[in-house]
Amino acid sequence: MSGSSSASSAPVLGNGALNGSAAAARPISALIRQRLQAAGVPFLANDNVADHLRDGELELLEREVTERVRDLLRSLLIDIDNDHNTEETPERVARMYLHEVFKGRYHPQPKIASFPNVKQLDEIYTVGPITVRSACSHHLVPILGHCWIGIKPGQRVIGLSKFTRVADWVFSRPHIQEEAVMILADEIERLCEPLGLAILVKAQHYCMKWRGVKELQTSMVNSIVRGDFRHDPALKAEFFELVKQQEAQYS
Ligand SMILES: [Zn+2]
Repeated sequence: MSGSSSASSAPVLGNGALNGSAAAARPISALIRQRLQAAGVPFLANDNVADHLRDGELELLEREVTERVRDLLRSLLIDIDNDHNTEETPERVARMYLHEVFKGRYHPQPKIASFPNVKQLDEIYTVGPITVRSACSHHLVPILGHCWIGIKPGQRVIGLSKFTRVADWVFSRPHIQEEAVMILADEIERLCEPLGLAILVKAQHYCMKWRGVKELQTSMVNSIVRGDFRHDPALKAEFFELVKQQEAQYS
């Protein structure tokens, strides 16, 4: 009976998910978790773990999550064996979490090249609205909104569409909005080292609309200002003025 054996042969870990003898092996998530812990790498809901996944492990993880979702549906007393509507729901939900709505945890950052600021541009510009989609860490229900990014260029620049790509990657994780904005700011600073960076996010939280207080109109707005936007009130005011103009264009 391998179920109770404490065979700690690490190489077989995760294989159970492949051949279906799940009871015989530890789930692949246990192996990856152990690796993350050994490396001292945080794996909170809004952290990315792509660098610590080896070839083929994401597929194994998808199979494991599928089985756990199947268990969840069973525990919710949904007759998945007879209900044609939920027949492939576990597969769909696992795929959705790992490759769509939480892809920012499991997939590496999209390739984003930066270029030298050869013309020494030092005027600020804003990009937005960029649609952001996330889910709250507390209930795993959607957060949907828009984001505006203001840049005072430094030595390097990135293409405008790259802001959308990096925002999508950062927001596609379970989050709380305040931390999402900070993580996005860190990533943009890392990519192009601007002299100033400002980000504004306005989002609707479905954990307040769909459940809980069921408040349909409430949104959350927060911003972060760094570098010259932080030190120069006129520059900060200019950012919010530009955002207002961009918003007016689409309302
Ligand atoms: Zn929530």
